[in-house]
Amino acid sequence: MTATLTLPTVESALRAEDAVLDVTVAAGDGFLGRVPAGGSFRIVDLHGNQAADTLFYDADDVTNRYSAMDTIREQRAAYLTAGSRLLSQDGDPLVTITADTCGRHDTLGGACAQESNVVRYGMHTRHQHACRETFLRYGAPAGIGARELGHNVNFFMNVPLTPDGGLSFADGLSAPGRYVEVRAERDVLVLISNCPQLNNPCNGWDPTPIRLLGWTA
Ligand SMILES: [Zn+2]
Repeated sequence: MTATLTLPTVESALRAEDAVLDVTVAAGDGFLGRVPAGGSFRIVDLHGNQAADTLFYDADDVTNRYSAMDTIREQRAAYLTAGSRLLSQDGDPLVTITADTCGRHDTLGGACAQESNVVRYGMHTRHQHACRETFLRYGAPAGIGARELGHNVNFFMNVPLTPDGGLSFADGLSAPGRYVEVRAERDVLVLISNCPQLNNPCNGWDPTPIRLLGWTA
């Protein structure tokens, strides 16, 4: 039996032609940017089924980073969607999801690393590029190192909870052109790894580019 999951979506009123940031991040590449308080930031899944592994930081203190644990507990829900307020480990709101045409995003599955690839998929994956390396490379100029890498958001990634409480990596719910948009609740840094994973369906077995748009308040 195949069940079709219909999730509520919220469109944005912001227009691409008014954006002060408009960049495309290639499959497997990364991004680091600063979003001023009140500004908006959109991630567009250009081809569909692409996981955008994302971390948020207090721009003035990168040790005050996104906390999946605090966010899930305070919103009393395991998935992220429009209305989710993403909290830091100090309990400060970093961003709020203001628009979402995909409907559900994961923050339980974590980011891929060369080490986890070896454990899950075998030694032949040891030298495949992974999100953790992208986070370290793009985070370095902002003082973000291994110590500052916490649990991340996987925008557009579908990691359904099983009835017995397990996690499963499933085929994506996203599609070409779907997007998620956040509003910064303070000055934040956004660190993205446009996931290069080839060994599970998180990218539909074929990593593709994402487009990033930004607006000031
Ligand atoms: Zn990854």
